[in-house]
Amino acid sequence: MKYHIITFGCEMNKSDSERIATTLQKEGLSPTDTLSEADIVIINACAVRQSAMDRVYGQVKKIENLKKKNPDIKAGVTGCLLEKDRKKLKEKYDFVFNIKNLSELPKILNISQKTEDINSYLDIKPDRDSSFSAFVPIMNGCNNFCAYCAVPYTRGRERSRPIEKVIDEVRKLAKKGYKEIWLLGQNVNSYEPTSFADLLYKIEEIKGDFWIRFTSPHPKDFTDDLIEAMANCEKVTPYLNLPLQSGDNEILKKMNRNYTVEDYKKIVKKVKNKIPDITLSTDIIVGFPGETKEQFQNTTSLFKEIEFDMAYIAKYSERPGTEAAKMEDNVTLEEKKRRERVLTQLLSKTALKNNKKWIDKKDKVLFDQLKNNTLIGKTRHYKTIKIESDSKEFIGKIKEVKIKEAKPFGLKGELI
Ligand code: SAH
Ligand code: SF4
Repeated sequence: MKYHIITFGCEMNKSDSERIATTLQKEGLSPTDTLSEADIVIINACAVRQSAMDRVYGQVKKIENLKKKNPDIKAGVTGCLLEKDRKKLKEKYDFVFNIKNLSELPKILNISQKTEDINSYLDIKPDRDSSFSAFVPIMNGCNNFCAYCAVPYTRGRERSRPIEKVIDEVRKLAKKGYKEIWLLGQNVNSYEPTSFADLLYKIEEIKGDFWIRFTSPHPKDFTDDLIEAMANCEKVTPYLNLPLQSGDNEILKKMNRNYTVEDYKKIVKKVKNKIPDITLSTDIIVGFPGETKEQFQNTTSLFKEIEFDMAYIAKYSERPGTEAAKMEDNVTLEEKKRRERVLTQLLSKTALKNNKKWIDKKDKVLFDQLKNNTLIGKTRHYKTIKIESDSKEFIGKIKEVKIKEAKPFGLKGELI
């Protein structure tokens, strides 16, 4: 029997899909990249934005067509799901299960008699897609209840993994030669067993030649100790995604973000002071309920001031059950699109300006793919870089590169 997994959303979902793969492989199933060859299809959904959910509903037709040819196909949904979608999807798919009950999936599929209980689904060893870059969840869930966000409802309350489990997993990955380790969580810096800074120091001590990256930290919990740890730990790369969401204090308050623009700027200043070459990216929502043109203007001003390297800009999308859903979604789609365009244009200017500083400089690169005689990878500073080469053997390796050209969203270089 073969399975096919379709994944939507963030790194946490990708990481969960790797655990779904292990669970199915333990039952003797093998993976297939071709949907029409699969006996079991699992859709790992993301409820953070409606557009991703629309794509989950969009799969229904495809699966119905497949079932006409092979009525034995079973298709199910898991992932980040709001109650309302869970109910609707139950009617459209064969089964819907909570990712926390992943160990019960074989039972649901009737492919196993096993009833062994696995306490925490995060302990299921993932079948990793990559042999050099790995996701390691350190916590799951969220207590912050930002007004717009589905995550506290879909993933539940924050729960940290014990330090020993995190360390043990990283140690094993380092031993296997993994080059890049992503520490994952909806709010990594509210890690509980110890401070997140302390966790970084502990991982830094693990033997091996690997990079540590993490996502996402929350500005409200961003301590000086964490900045210190980022600067002191050799393995922690000079890259920070620090979600801002809005550059207007009133909107930030309505969003329930618990920091001000001034707090955010202070963090950026301290980070740049300790790590001058840091690559800085952010997340923004445009068109939050009630966001006026003036309030949006405050976000653009901050964009000009901070000069981000990258930004993930999202148009506000109402999530049923959240606090913001009680507010009127009164910014038109057209206006949201306009605001998105304004920020993207600003971003491409600041990103290009920042990238140009890299010309004629060197950086280390972890290559992850080879396409049309071009090696593609990410620099230590998390910038996409392309190199003319047909050397497949560099994939999964860290190499030194000289940067030759800069574009807004990427660099070109050559191997040294
Ligand atoms: N924990 C992270 C974000 C997790 S969700 C944080 O604190 O920022 C990932 C991103 O999706 C968010 O940063 C936000 O920009 C976007 N997002 C979340 N809910 C959204 C919504 N209702 N509409 C549009 N974008 C949303
Ligand atoms: Fe959502 Fe806010 Fe939690 Fe991030 S911190 S996952 S935006 S509720």
